[in-house]
Amino acid sequence: MNQPLDVAILGATGAVGQRFIQLLDGHPWFRVREVVASDRSAGQRYGDAARWVLPGNPPDAVAELPVLPLDAALDSPLVFSALPGDIAESVEWRLAQAGHVVCSNASAYRMHEHVPLLLPEINADHARLIEVQRRVYGWGGGLATNSNCTSAPVAMSLAPLRQFGIEAVMAVSMQAISGAGYPGVPALDITENVIPYINGEEPKLETEPRKMLGTLRESTVDLLDCVISATCTRVPVLDGHLVSVSVRFAEAVGEAALREAWASFRGPDPVPDLPSAPDQPVVVRTEPDRPQPRRDRDAGGGMSAVVGRLRPDPVIGGWKYLALAHNTVRGAAGCSILNAELLVACGYL
Ligand code: NAP
Repeated sequence: MNQPLDVAILGATGAVGQRFIQLLDGHPWFRVREVVASDRSAGQRYGDAARWVLPGNPPDAVAELPVLPLDAALDSPLVFSALPGDIAESVEWRLAQAGHVVCSNASAYRMHEHVPLLLPEINADHARLIEVQRRVYGWGGGLATNSNCTSAPVAMSLAPLRQFGIEAVMAVSMQAISGAGYPGVPALDITENVIPYINGEEPKLETEPRKMLGTLRESTVDLLDCVISATCTRVPVLDGHLVSVSVRFAEAVGEAALREAWASFRGPDPVPDLPSAPDQPVVVRTEPDRPQPRRDRDAGGGMSAVVGRLRPDPVIGGWKYLALAHNTVRGAAGCSILNAELLVACGYL
């Protein structure tokens, strides 16, 4: 690109919004020009409105930006959304209608038939739904989503194994505190504790990977024909969602073939060459006690999923392993930025 593309961030003061600002600092293609948040923050300088929870300070250029209200007319052609799902529903559609390309973290449109649920290494071809949107809705913009933060490590670790015929999956998550946003879970609830329930999370984990791993037809995606059973828990970890995954395949498959499928997985062109793509989307650890959130969440700059502890599962009749991904990077802002890079590479922006 000759000149960086201006971007706006909705929900810029929250946990995911801050991660966008951190990851976009010095980005070769994109430059943060507009930040949007609630009425609580609108009108203030970003540096004053945001309670910055990441290391260091927000970049100076962003700290000086005025926080815009949700109904502001935006100039940026590309909009990243880190809004709560209920608020995202009306705003994101309106912005796509107004000609913006919106890359969203919110759940509102993830399962919409004409909206791609993108994780580029897995399903870059689903980006063609942007053309379907333009035809069906007559808009010049577009709307693309990325998955729930727990679906990311599950879908990334399953994608290289699709070739063996995935029939059934059981997933038990151990999700980090930052997944609940800021200020999130009260210290009195999460300290020295595990909370065995996260509102609305299990249905997402049982459906979103099936769409990401599904097949693009003319104008919709056929979900992968498999059943997923999910249990989601919150644990006292700052960042990084760890998931215990058991999977049954249609065909008999050995340990070496599974490891090789993960290690050689790269994703289709042009994804490996996009600025935010990690060298290795799925990193395989062979130590008996990895992956661990604190030690492995930053693999590939937080963009790799890390798998390990592969062993037979006698109950499901297949294999079980642990998968980990950084929830605000690969599970949110980082994936959204990679999605936008893919849309640029495809000519939609
Ligand atoms: P968060 O920390 O609570 O941040 C919410 C953001 O939305 C803040 O900037 C807030 O602005 C803004 N906001 C809230 N109500 C608003 C309103 N009525 N009008 C305009 N702006 C409003 O939440 P988060 O964790 O960043 O999550 C953001 C989205 O990403 C959610 O849809 C979430 O499900 C999704 N997501 C989160 C993660 C994760 O790991 N955290 C991962 C994947 C997806 P103020 O500061 O002004 O209130």
